[in-house]
Amino acid sequence: MINFTEYLEKYAALVIEMGVNIQPEQELVIRAPIECAEFTRILTEKAYQKGAKEVIVLWKDEQLSKIKYTYSPLEVFETVPRWQANFFNDYSERGAAFLSIYAEDPELMADVDPQKIIAGIKASRTACQPYYDRLDNGENVWNIVSVPTLAWAKKVFPDCSDEQAIDKLWKAIFKAVRVDTPDPIAAWKQHDQSFRSKVAWLNQQQFQKLRYTNSLGTNLTLGLPQNHIWQGGGETSNKGVFFFPNMPTEEIFSMPHKDHVDGVVVSSMPLNHNGNLIDGFSFTFERGKIVDFTAKQGYDVLKHILETDEGSRYLGEVALVPNHSPISNMGILFYNTLFDENASCHLALGAAYPSCIQDGTTMSKEQQAQKGVNDSANHIDFMVGTEDLNIVGIKADGTEISIFEHGNWSSAVQ
Ligand code: ZN
Ligand code: ZN
Repeated sequence: MINFTEYLEKYAALVIEMGVNIQPEQELVIRAPIECAEFTRILTEKAYQKGAKEVIVLWKDEQLSKIKYTYSPLEVFETVPRWQANFFNDYSERGAAFLSIYAEDPELMADVDPQKIIAGIKASRTACQPYYDRLDNGENVWNIVSVPTLAWAKKVFPDCSDEQAIDKLWKAIFKAVRVDTPDPIAAWKQHDQSFRSKVAWLNQQQFQKLRYTNSLGTNLTLGLPQNHIWQGGGETSNKGVFFFPNMPTEEIFSMPHKDHVDGVVVSSMPLNHNGNLIDGFSFTFERGKIVDFTAKQGYDVLKHILETDEGSRYLGEVALVPNHSPISNMGILFYNTLFDENASCHLALGAAYPSCIQDGTTMSKEQQAQKGVNDSANHIDFMVGTEDLNIVGIKADGTEISIFEHGNWSSAVQ
């Protein structure tokens, strides 16, 4: 039997100290579902104990959101009230840390008009551009974590009682974020070290392209821009604060060259997008652009995603995760990107992280586009890793080095 209260305290301390690494006199904005009030109170108290000046909590209720999406007309989602945009733009300018608890019901929004959801994302991206840019460019620290909610837990463990499902999901989360170790903070420092050598090796190789193949039908050539940067584990903000944007995290990621992707990639896990499930899908790329796609489930949702803007038809992230990652070894499909993306190699439609290319964060949008950095209101991860996935790195002189064999790091990677 685990001591639940003790684990909860350790988890909250980990998030505050290693996730956002709160600094004295700093402001902290927490976005939390109302169901996660207990954990949010513990987080808030820990943040104050570490010297936070003010903790501002924005409560979300997904049932209320669904009612709003159902009854409000499209135009309501096409603009963001000025006070709301000011909130994010102002707090980010003041150097606040941003913490989100991500725990949605994976299928809640299934009947909602996807146009409303996409309009909301676009409007928020436009109105809160300064906020998003500061986060993307490393000005502010941010962290995303998850806490079980009943609807989510029941989706993951449909055959369990309510109580059992919640309990099982807590245990899986505690394990994934290493809260089940004697000293989680030390465990995360060590975890960060394990990324360093592979990141350094990949950055030194400067592959021109990667070739993905597996028996699902993936046969994809993915170009990487010149001076691309692989990252993984923790990050350091422009102010020198070391933080972990995601907990858990098992990925090493960079950006594809937006115009140099060709071939077919087949999904290996369902994608939950704002409460809509898309499954059994594939994309065909020509010179970076998706020119054809298929989906066994959620075709219309996927179509709407791709129609959001020009950048939604191009890739913005390439991430390597071994098939034997601690999360994939649990054998649980979480229906939650934060967990599923750390169980599988993945790619993302939409915006790239400018920090994945040298000088990317100080380039203008035009310079970024010229170097192959994709931009979009969307950033949507989808899983492509399988136990038979092979990835070969190809250098400018044609040299080929195996990176992944049968779903895991090849022995050529140090
Ligand atoms: Zn990723
Ligand atoms: Zn991503």
